[in-house]
Amino acid sequence: MSRILTPEQIDTAQRHILNAERIVVTTHKNPDGDAIGSAMAMHHFLQSIGKNPITILPDAAPDFLHWVKDYSHCVIAEEFPQKASDAIAEADLIFSLDYNHLLRVGEFVCGLLEKSSAPFILIDHHQQPGEFPVVTYSDTKACSTCEMVFRFIEQCGWKGHLNIDIASCIYLGIMTDSGSFRFHNVSDDTHRIAGELIALGLDHAEIHRNVYDTNLMDKLKLIGYALSEKLVVMAEHSTAFISLDKEELKRYNYRQGDTEGLVNQALSIRGVKLAAFFREGNNEIKTSFRSKGTFDVNAFARAHWQGGGHINAAGGMSSESMTDSLEKFRSLSAQYSSQINAS
Ligand code: 5GP
Ligand code: MN
Repeated sequence: MSRILTPEQIDTAQRHILNAERIVVTTHKNPDGDAIGSAMAMHHFLQSIGKNPITILPDAAPDFLHWVKDYSHCVIAEEFPQKASDAIAEADLIFSLDYNHLLRVGEFVCGLLEKSSAPFILIDHHQQPGEFPVVTYSDTKACSTCEMVFRFIEQCGWKGHLNIDIASCIYLGIMTDSGSFRFHNVSDDTHRIAGELIALGLDHAEIHRNVYDTNLMDKLKLIGYALSEKLVVMAEHSTAFISLDKEELKRYNYRQGDTEGLVNQALSIRGVKLAAFFREGNNEIKTSFRSKGTFDVNAFARAHWQGGGHINAAGGMSSESMTDSLEKFRSLSAQYSSQINAS
């Protein structure tokens, strides 16, 4: 785990990229700003060196990411399974961006990737990357995969190929994964990279507006409802949680991405050190966890919610009912109370 690639990694990556003719770029399911940003930054970069990559998304991105240049050219595997299957079967190099394990791309794309004999290059900042790639560029201290994509291009000696499209995508992922430059994993190097992107002529305020100032009324009303009616604080354990079931989501015409960041509102309460959000999906309950300080939600999500992520931000799922899932969180809050309070 390092910011710096070894000379062998650089050599291997360069060789594979330069020799490849059918490159596929992949990222995780339920893509967020860093997933779309890193995948499309790599896509535009590969184009800038004369390649013709195909970017495959397991499922569609939320509306607030559709402005990204050439987003509409991505193959969405859920909608075009045959296209995704053909591209992966024919690939001679596959990028895995912003995920640490093949299961993160969902069952369908995971099955396709497992069958492929192409080499993988992984660029990712999640804990404990799997062992499938020929090059694993893993840096769990990086605030985003996007800043790693910048460093990857830089360390390969290809910085001269950066252009405004690549820059916009990299900035998008840095901005969204760092909470607009406020989380503690933002480093001097994050700001150096952002500075270099702005020097390329990037309109950073426009990117912020595209992501954060394009809400629909329904979304704001859903957030308002969640905060006023569904927020539960367990002060004795320094935890808080919000839950939304299918009926509630439907009432506010829920669209994918509408509840992104909601868990941070629960965490923002004074004294709360662990916050959770539960959203009912079709077959499961999706969970999100955030912590302040040292309580490790990656370990918490791995141990109890079939998930993972980072020390202060993780996710997972529950196959139990909403009532049982919330009860489980209540009892885990009591079980971990002293650790949470001491964090
Ligand atoms: P979010 O709560 O925003 O969905 O995710 C927070 C972090 O946890 C992200 O870094 C994401 O990659 C990770 N994460 C979310 N859901 C899952 C999951 O089901 N499994 C794993 N391993 N990580 C997840
Ligand atoms: Mn990320």
